[in-house]
Amino acid sequence: ALKSVPAAPAPVAEEARAILKRLGVPDSVFAPSGRPALSPISGETVAHVRETTPEEAKAAIARADAAFKVWRRIPAPKRGEFVRLIGEELRAAKDDLGRLVTLEAGKVTSEGLGEVQEMIDICDFAVGLSRQLYGLTIATERADHRMMETWHPLGVCGVISAFNFPVAVWSWNAALAFVCGDSVVWKPSEKTLLTALATKAIVERAAKRFGGVPEGLLEVLLGGREIGEILVDDHRVPVVSATGSTAMGRQVGPKLAARFARAILELGGNNAAIVAPSADLDLALRGIAFAAMGTAGQRCTTLRRLFVHESVYDRLVPRLKKVYSSVTIGDPRREGVLVGPLIDKAAFDGMERALDEARAAGGVVHGGGRYTDGECANGFYARPALVEMPEQKGPVLRETFAPILYVMRYTDFEDVIAQHNAVGAGLSSSIFTLDMREAETFISAVGSDCGIANVNIGPSGAEIGGAFGGEKETGGGREAGSDAWKAYMRRATNTINYGRTLPLAQGVKFDV
Ligand code: NAD
Repeated sequence: ALKSVPAAPAPVAEEARAILKRLGVPDSVFAPSGRPALSPISGETVAHVRETTPEEAKAAIARADAAFKVWRRIPAPKRGEFVRLIGEELRAAKDDLGRLVTLEAGKVTSEGLGEVQEMIDICDFAVGLSRQLYGLTIATERADHRMMETWHPLGVCGVISAFNFPVAVWSWNAALAFVCGDSVVWKPSEKTLLTALATKAIVERAAKRFGGVPEGLLEVLLGGREIGEILVDDHRVPVVSATGSTAMGRQVGPKLAARFARAILELGGNNAAIVAPSADLDLALRGIAFAAMGTAGQRCTTLRRLFVHESVYDRLVPRLKKVYSSVTIGDPRREGVLVGPLIDKAAFDGMERALDEARAAGGVVHGGGRYTDGECANGFYARPALVEMPEQKGPVLRETFAPILYVMRYTDFEDVIAQHNAVGAGLSSSIFTLDMREAETFISAVGSDCGIANVNIGPSGAEIGGAFGGEKETGGGREAGSDAWKAYMRRATNTINYGRTLPLAQGVKFDV
């Protein structure tokens, strides 16, 4: 029988332009003098996008402020109906938007689609939430009084997002902000302008169906850091959710603090896993390999440090090395590919630098280096690297946004917890163990110091139902599920006297 040879995927730029057209992105957003929107798959320029000028950014914030003043008066469940329609439009556009994520951010097909699914999921969550923005009734010490708390819309919510989750991070914030009665001004990564434009077109379709959405409820500012700074500095924006590197957070955080605005900071991670003596090694192997190599190591929750107990090291690490050497690297649109391209040359250079430093610190590097076979010649594809380190030092202590996994031996449980927590970031973490004492200790007050601590699954890939975010240099912000919505609203405590006297609190006497 003839073996069919898979056809080469369509040229990237052509495919992306066809999707933009289908999703209704107007031609007016493009201009020959604009910022080039590249695909990391082939390095091709898909389009030139007109950037937002500082004056336009300020006008957009003014429109969003005016929109907020209308939107806050619409009952929350009705606002939820708008978000329900966004979810419906996302369902209809899932294949196209997911593919565009693949083309622009380089994620493999299932992850591109998964990112859009996350957007749909948070919309569903927010619709339910729109009828559950509860406050409390609180016991008061004064007779014939009632005390309660109420939650009110806050204002314009600024959203700054990173390239690696180009649209899901926007939705975690925007879906909640909209039901909470806020308007949104979004500054997407300058590396992923096309998916932002497509998302805006999708929201506009939902707005048309809803009717009565005030102009300016969603504004998008296209450009680099300077345009993000305008958003951060504007006193009409009481809350800014900023996702990106810790370096970005160090610039943005103090500016927001100086004007007493709220900051939801979602910054870098340096996530670790521990493989204990009792671990199910087959399960651990799968969990580790996906968490470390998936998305070409470009997730904030990517596994970067692995501590393996000395008693299982020689059974696990050789198998892991085998998986590393056989992983499929290539065009992320092809079936069976796990590792697509890095976002750009700077990311690849950063990976090379970290590997050199690791070698200098006594590390033994397996894999690494540029992968240029066939259609990968024009993008920055890297072979994932597994680095056996004698100890945790040098580049192991920081995040390099690329597929590098540092592997270290340990002997003592308490000591490994200390090492686990001895880095700046505090986003995600895991332990692989069947020992109940170790598992419970790891997620207890004296265990992992991260915002996410898992047992017997890798650190990457969270669900929207939980609050997402991390501690320390990860910034402390929480997004998505649980009670993350509270950051997008202001709380008022109300006391009502329905009696005929005026008792004062704390027994204070005052006569007139
Ligand atoms: P980045 O920090 O380079 O850029 C992120 C965004 O911040 C971009 O939109 C950028 O234009 C903007 N920005 C940068 N400096 C700014 C400033 N001074 N003022 C205003 N805006 C500014 O990050 P990146 O390379 O796009 O993304 C990768 C990083 O993001 C990694 O460190 C990763 O761990 C992190 N990340 C964190 C999470 C999380 O939820 N914790 C999620 C995704 C990515």
